[in-house]
Amino acid sequence: MAFRNGVNTVLVAVAVAQAAVAQANPSVQKRMNPLINKTRISTPLLAVLAFVSLTLLTTCHRYGEQSAELFVFGTIVEIKLWGASPEEASHAFAELQQMFQGLHRDWHAWEPGQLSNINAAFAEGRPATANEDIIVMVRRSQEIEELTGGRFNPAIGALIKLWGFHTSNYPIEGPPPSQDQISQILDRKPSSRDIIINGLEMRTDNPAVQLDFGGIAKGYAVDLTIARLRAMGINNAIANAGGDLRAIGSHGDRPWRVAVRKPGGGNIGSVQVQGDEAIFTSGNYERFRQDQHERYPHVIDPGTGWPAKDIASVTIITDEGLLADAAATALLVAGLDAWPEVARALKLDQVAVVDESGTIYLTPKMEQRIQYTGDVERVIVEIN
Ligand code: ADP
Ligand code: MG
Repeated sequence: MAFRNGVNTVLVAVAVAQAAVAQANPSVQKRMNPLINKTRISTPLLAVLAFVSLTLLTTCHRYGEQSAELFVFGTIVEIKLWGASPEEASHAFAELQQMFQGLHRDWHAWEPGQLSNINAAFAEGRPATANEDIIVMVRRSQEIEELTGGRFNPAIGALIKLWGFHTSNYPIEGPPPSQDQISQILDRKPSSRDIIINGLEMRTDNPAVQLDFGGIAKGYAVDLTIARLRAMGINNAIANAGGDLRAIGSHGDRPWRVAVRKPGGGNIGSVQVQGDEAIFTSGNYERFRQDQHERYPHVIDPGTGWPAKDIASVTIITDEGLLADAAATALLVAGLDAWPEVARALKLDQVAVVDESGTIYLTPKMEQRIQYTGDVERVIVEIN
């Protein structure tokens, strides 16, 4: 009891201190709940905040939720920590922001950087040197491309570009590319498996190979985020890139609870995170090209060169962000008939697929996980 009172008193003092800092600098979005300190990242400000809070909290053993919004690949990644000291949190946010800047520069599919250098080298038949993260992504991609029968294939960058999906400004307007243009790329069969890796060097004999990590970049970025946090001794956290996330530990004495996204916006329901899990959704409704007649979503079937259409969204829960992200993309390509087979090949047992009419197809394990927000038609699909 004495402990709780002590904590409450100190937390009120922190709230007052935070409010004072917020007043001094309007970029701080203060919250009334003293346990929650949410900031759009501003590193110097976090440092001040950390110092003020820390001075007041030297005797406190429990810390609440702290969060920051960081930016990478045109996406906001919200990081939430539970139980970290303000000093640890500000240090973690600053380090992650720096890491994201590096990832943005190294992995971006169309802005100049490491990946565009690699793609230029491939097109000219030259070897290219990459950093460790890119090598890991290529290796995992090669495995996943094989297991998904080529439905996940990050070597189709030329097709993605042809469709106009090398942009952040959606929706794109105008007609699709011609079948002739599509066939010219398909005929050269670009595959991540054409890449030969030797240490940090990559080469390929297929100049049509152009890497685009759009289908796994968020997934691997959240994996790296969680690894970095753990290395700092932080074991209760969520890295959430617009509903695609990985979570570890818990939110104090309750589990983290996260939303499962629904096609067209909103949520199907929510899931309580158990331990260490990644939850990813791929959909055909957010990023697309539109002409007078049709909508062309941004996930391309590498077999046909045309967008994947019959699934509205796929949600995957597994323990690795990269796999969850790649699998969501691959199952979208697989479509309503083949997704169970691809899920089985990837050894996934928590999958939810939503079709265009809103019916949800779920594996039994996924069905047990979701707490639904409303009435939805559900079909349980055994895949093993
Ligand atoms: P989101 O970006 O909405 O999370 P995805 O994770 O499905 O969606 O990634 C889509 C991106 O992946 C595309 O913008 C493109 O960069 C890339 N991509 C498209 N089709 C494929 C595919 N068949 N295999 C691998 N990557 C793909
Ligand atoms: Mg994906």
